[in-house]
Amino acid sequence: MQKEPVDILQQERYRVLIDHAPQPVLIFDVKSGKFIDFNHKAELFFKLSGAQLRTLGPADLSPEVVDGKDAFAYANTRIQKALDGDSSIFPWVHRNSTGEEIQCDIWLVRFPPYDRQLLSATIIDKTQKLAMERALSDSEERLKLALQVTGLGTFDWDFQGNILYWDDQMHMLHGLSPGATVDKLQYLFNVLHPEDEIWMQPRLNQVTQPETDFTFFDREYRIIVSGETRYLQINGSFFRDENGIVERVVGTVRDITAKKLAEEQLTYQAALLENVSEAVISTDEYFTIRSWNEAAESLYGWTAEEMIGKSIFLIQTDYLDEEGDDVLFEFKQHGYWKGEVIQKGKIGRSMNILSSVNILRNPAGKVIGYIAINRDITKEKEAEKQKLRARQLELKNKELERFAYVVSHDLQEPLHTVKGFVHLLEHHLRENLDEQSTEFIERIDQSVDRMYKLIRALLDYSRIGLYEKAKEVDCNDLVYASLDDLEAQIRETGACIHIAHLPKLNGYETELRLLFQNLISNGIKFRRENVSPVIQITVRKTEEEWEFCVADNGIGILTKHQHRIFAIFHRLNPQTQYSGTGIGLSHCQKIVELHGGKIWVESNLEHGSKFFFTIPD
Ligand code: ADP
Repeated sequence: MQKEPVDILQQERYRVLIDHAPQPVLIFDVKSGKFIDFNHKAELFFKLSGAQLRTLGPADLSPEVVDGKDAFAYANTRIQKALDGDSSIFPWVHRNSTGEEIQCDIWLVRFPPYDRQLLSATIIDKTQKLAMERALSDSEERLKLALQVTGLGTFDWDFQGNILYWDDQMHMLHGLSPGATVDKLQYLFNVLHPEDEIWMQPRLNQVTQPETDFTFFDREYRIIVSGETRYLQINGSFFRDENGIVERVVGTVRDITAKKLAEEQLTYQAALLENVSEAVISTDEYFTIRSWNEAAESLYGWTAEEMIGKSIFLIQTDYLDEEGDDVLFEFKQHGYWKGEVIQKGKIGRSMNILSSVNILRNPAGKVIGYIAINRDITKEKEAEKQKLRARQLELKNKELERFAYVVSHDLQEPLHTVKGFVHLLEHHLRENLDEQSTEFIERIDQSVDRMYKLIRALLDYSRIGLYEKAKEVDCNDLVYASLDDLEAQIRETGACIHIAHLPKLNGYETELRLLFQNLISNGIKFRRENVSPVIQITVRKTEEEWEFCVADNGIGILTKHQHRIFAIFHRLNPQTQYSGTGIGLSHCQKIVELHGGKIWVESNLEHGSKFFFTIPD
């Protein structure tokens, strides 16, 4: 008896297999042209219920055209092939109940019992695979684009095979045309900057050792292409096998030449700013200080650290004749302002500053800040003022000299006449003059002589520094020459003069001699009764000048009178006690001032006097 064939569709093993298959599976009955069984995944795939599926065949679940062929005919061909034992996978397009077309691969195989012409169709959904492929190609495209835009070159170095792969960008970065057939490694070491060659090879040898745990790297190197240096930055990773042997090195290279040059330029500019003698201060458009160079630090006393980030208006500024608002207006209109201001720094000292301020704009013309270049002109200003004062003084002195000269000349004329007539009168009345008349005539004659002296002294005073030129003089010679002139006075009084070694200096010879002579002579003249005069002449050098001192042991001067004795014709003692015209110290003062120095006295009554004067070196 022939054994009834087992209906596989009813077997439990078959159900478990089909229901747990990872893909949608359908059993197609060729004779009826319908699906007779399927798993739950097939229902979900087509979004159809089991009952609906049972009424349909493959062509009902597909678009009319699949892979460019009529779906019905194409399906029949594949069915026939499967019946003939061909179990190869072929592409197909299914359409689910919502009309969505799904790219898939179909694995169609004959299914027992063979006499029933059953086929099992396993559907492999390609949607996800395709989406992934698309995403991959998209991301590859994006990566390529990103590499192009960022100028990144990529490399892949098969370490074992010693093959270095460079992409197009990498070729171009190294001065090669894309796809150039050269040994990349050899080429790289040929164009490598000599200084980078020194570290690169040893470093490579070191990091590729199996025992080194070296994975990532990020360094800069330089190459010289067509005589120009390119700065490149390389980032990469080492891939090692389980024994630590390097298999691949993969990474990117970027051209940082422009950045490096800009950095160099910046460093250069910064160094330049630090080395200029002017204070250079820049601010942003809100007047917040952004840079403050060394010269600004020393000019204002504030460090860059203290000032950066602060408002520029912290510096107290006085615009002299202009209003701050007017300056700001003019500046904004012209984009430039230059002028003098008075500013105060950290210690509060007022400084004359010559300031030039410019607007800083970006390439689009937008104001991005301001830059001020400030120079301290306090000294120049002071020198200017002094020059003006000196000039005014000079003019006044000249006027005074002319006046004194004219007056003294004109005053002598009537004096000559008086003196002449007094002599005539004396001669004429000689026998008839009584004792009193003779005394009167003598008194007139003495007064006229004194008047002569005063006028001559005035004349001398007006001539000081007028006819001589400054030259190098030896003060020792001058002092000894004046002692010669004072010889009689010294002898008569028994004066003792001590003279220190004196310097040579640039000055007016005759005037300086007169200066020493007047001071020594006064020291002897204004001696105390019964005390022999002792005069000491000393000198000391200060930073910029010589300070002389002529000290005596004479009568001294009351403090309250000390400032008056340098005034012309001013005397403290009666003529009868101490002779003189009262012009000697005025001479001294004028001579000292002619040399740019100062004269003063320190004295106590009855305890001698010290006359100090300075002569610039
Ligand atoms: P003179 O010596 O002709 O009086 P000076 O101009 O030299 O005129 O001096 C002005 C006055 O200063 C003197 O009259 C004197 O009163 C006082 N004086 C100057 N030198 C001395 C001195 N060495 N000691 C004290 N008094 C002095």
